[in-house]
Amino acid sequence: MITCARQHTWTAGFVAREGHRWCRICPEMIKRERKQKIEEEQAKERARIAEAQRKMFAQAEAEMIGEEVKETETTTVRDAET
Ligand SMILES: [Zn+2]
Repeated sequence: MITCARQHTWTAGFVAREGHRWCRICPEMIKRERKQKIEEEQAKERARIAEAQRKMFAQAEAEMIGEEVKETETTTVRDAET
């Protein structure tokens, strides 16, 4: 049995047949981990943008509500008169 740095084990027969000593699981894992890290960073960036947009929309909404309140106040006065 041969064990790599990541504790993957395979039989010596595999090495002889494939003609290389390097673990064939490790490159796939490294590739997957790298991809996962990139995806995590992209997700983090998306979350950051989404949060910034949410704040922007919340601010815009608050300003809009502020204007709506003014409109509602005048409407209420008009309704009270009728
Ligand atoms: Zn390995």
